[in-house]
Amino acid sequence: MRAESGNTSRRILCVFPRYTKSFGTFQNSYPLMDGVAAFMPPQGLLVIAAYLPEDWSVRFIDENIRAATPADFEWADAVFVSGMHIQRQQMTDICRRAHDYDLPVAIGGPSVSACPDHYPNFDYLHVGELGDATDQLIARLAHDVTRPPRQIVFTTEDRLDMTLFPIPAYELAECSKYLLGSVQYSSGCPYQCEFCDIPGLYGRNPRLKTPEQIITELDRMVECGVRGSVYFVDDNFIGNRKAALDLLPHLVEWQKRTGFQLQLACEATLNIAKRPEILSLMREAYFCTIFCGIETPDPTALKAMHKDHNMMVPILEGVRTISSYGIEVVSGIILGLDTDTPETGEFLMQFIEQSQIPLLTINLLQALPKTPLWDRLEREGRLVHDDNRESNVDFLLPHDQVVTMWKDCMARAYEPESLLKRYEYQIENAYATRLHPRTPQRASKANIKRGMIMLRNIIWQIGIRGDYKLAFWKFALKRLIRGDIENLLLVMVVAHHLIIYARDASRGQANASNYSIRLREASVPAE
Ligand code: SF4
Repeated sequence: MRAESGNTSRRILCVFPRYTKSFGTFQNSYPLMDGVAAFMPPQGLLVIAAYLPEDWSVRFIDENIRAATPADFEWADAVFVSGMHIQRQQMTDICRRAHDYDLPVAIGGPSVSACPDHYPNFDYLHVGELGDATDQLIARLAHDVTRPPRQIVFTTEDRLDMTLFPIPAYELAECSKYLLGSVQYSSGCPYQCEFCDIPGLYGRNPRLKTPEQIITELDRMVECGVRGSVYFVDDNFIGNRKAALDLLPHLVEWQKRTGFQLQLACEATLNIAKRPEILSLMREAYFCTIFCGIETPDPTALKAMHKDHNMMVPILEGVRTISSYGIEVVSGIILGLDTDTPETGEFLMQFIEQSQIPLLTINLLQALPKTPLWDRLEREGRLVHDDNRESNVDFLLPHDQVVTMWKDCMARAYEPESLLKRYEYQIENAYATRLHPRTPQRASKANIKRGMIMLRNIIWQIGIRGDYKLAFWKFALKRLIRGDIENLLLVMVVAHHLIIYARDASRGQANASNYSIRLREASVPAE
């Protein structure tokens, strides 16, 4: 579905801001690949671009790939920006540059929806999801593209049914330059973990697209050059279990039809381990990774944060069950919880050893607006509003002790030899039980060329010029002897990023929270 233009013609410049380098954006992997320059195509802005009236012209720029130029701003009648909290300063910078050309600038997306008062310089705020606010913004621009004398806020009261969402305008993005493709089937989550803003922002009753929409989107992504993997960005893929079961057979069929070109990944609660019928279909659909917010192995802490659903099966048993379907578990971990003690870091290291999970995003607790955690800490006077601090939470343990614990865990978890050992375990256990599709699409000339380029880069940059050569060759030789090039490439592209990032983290050169707006390079504008 698209908006009406009322017989007008406008040129809209959609600009996605740069990410601050972070654990989750894998920037250290890009030099090992073949022209990858950014993480994932931004769903929200591309959906808005596709929703704009048919006779309006749209230009999309992801500043992670290239900065918007004076020619782009001169071309435009108005500028749209969207992003997350960690991109706040970059969004404000885009607004400043657009104002140099006297262009009206609208901002939408999760950050402004949660914190409208962080964006006083923008002309239009779009608060909430695609819906009546979007129509009002478009009607306003159709009527008048001069900058309004003061800020106007449009708030979505009536969200567009997700079955009416247009296919994101992938054709406007340089899809082959992204590490992953992304797709969204549902929005919202039925749980209410204390620290999470998803239920507050997107509701507890997951809203859904149709399986047919997802299949059309996947086809379009492949046409537009997405390669490797596609990530379901749904907050909880099994937030509505029946819907997941409806979709999965379509994904299995799609994979068979298109030759299993893409690995799939998603986020889901750990209690997916209790659903063999879902896991079995996920295996058939070539899901290879699930991100589970394990948060902490401590049952008291899970109870305190209202994440009891993580205890529906013992955590280690849950991880092993998921792995037995060929799916690697990636885990979110939080340090700085009220239940933490000086021994928490040691317990976490034991958990990593026992679970053999290679990739864990270890974050310091950060209170996000519109969460029960924010409300509680505000009541207790424990919110610290200082952008130069690692977290806005006044921890019960001394702040420096928590930060030191985080640095120590990062250094130890991503020490090259122990990380590659955990990957070795995954290859022998989880990856070995995956489908191993041999199709012409997977063995295409383009894929082989891509693999050769990656292999050359990995051997040159890590095996010859790198500083963890010994651990690398110990891991790589086994793979090469077995002719297992695919797993060598898949593992090293991720592992290299983790090793380099963790070194920066342990030296205090990386943010301890992926949600922190403490931006180490935010003062460097995109141009
Ligand atoms: S299960 Fe995940 S998405 Fe749902 S409320 Fe908890 S943390 Fe948020």
